[in-house]
Amino acid sequence: MMIGGIEHPSWCERRECTVDPHSGRGAHASRPVVVGPEPRSGLTMRARLVQPPAGGPEVEVSFPGGQPAGVVLGAECARALGWVLLSLGREAERSAPPLARPTA
Ligand SMILES: [Zn+2]
Repeated sequence: MMIGGIEHPSWCERRECTVDPHSGRGAHASRPVVVGPEPRSGLTMRARLVQPPAGGPEVEVSFPGGQPAGVVLGAECARALGWVLLSLGREAERSAPPLARPTA
């Protein structure tokens, strides 16, 4: 979708997008999916697609409450995070430019 001279991927959420139409810097970003808080640790995880203007999409995982050295997840949280990462990874592959796609 072309807006203000910038071509945004279909998944780009304008409120999250930081691409500057003048400098071309920044990154497209999807709406973040939040998993958690994990019942025992209270850990919250956030995942989204990001894509610099000259690159392919990637999956960004962040920890809003601070990045832990390790993560222990209960079954429900592990399955939720796994599903989110699988979905975002598939979307990143689907919308990658042809040269950035894995050949296998
Ligand atoms: Zn965008």
